[in-house]
This record gives sequence, C-alpha cells and structure tokens, in this order.
Amino acid sequence: MNLIRLLVIAAIIWLCYRIYQNWLETKSSAAHKKQHDNSIEDMVQCAKCGVHIPQQEALKSGDKFYCSEAHKQ
Ligand SMILES: [Zn+2]
Repeated sequence: MNLIRLLVIAAIIWLCYRIYQNWLETKSSAAHKKQHDNSIEDMVQCAKCGVHIPQQEALKSGDKFYCSEAHKQ
C-alpha cells in the first residue's frame, strides 16, 4: 500500500515537472519569436522620398538608404 502511494506521488511530481518544462519551452520560444520579429521590423527611411522600407531591401549608399535604384542616383 505504501509503495503504491509512493508511486502515485512520484507520478504527480513527474507530471508537474513535465508541465513546468513545457511551460519554460513555450516561454523561451515565444521570446525568441519576438526577437526575430524585431529584426524584421528594422525599418529605414529612403533619403529621397522618405518611404519606410526594411533594411534588408533598402539600397545603401554611404550612410543613407534608398528605396530604389532610381532614388539612389
Ligand atoms: Zn525613395
């Protein structure tokens, strides 16, 4: 009888541990996703027309950014 009670307690502890681990994983992946979104939203402004574009898509000339090849010239 004592052994069964011990097994039940062990199972409850294990379950709590798994839930806690799952919660930590969800929390860290959500934080990681947010950080990733922030890097995507790194916007720059075209020095010619003032339109906002992602830095990855912007054309860089010196320390200024442009939305297209035409505005770069
Ligand atoms: Zn432009």
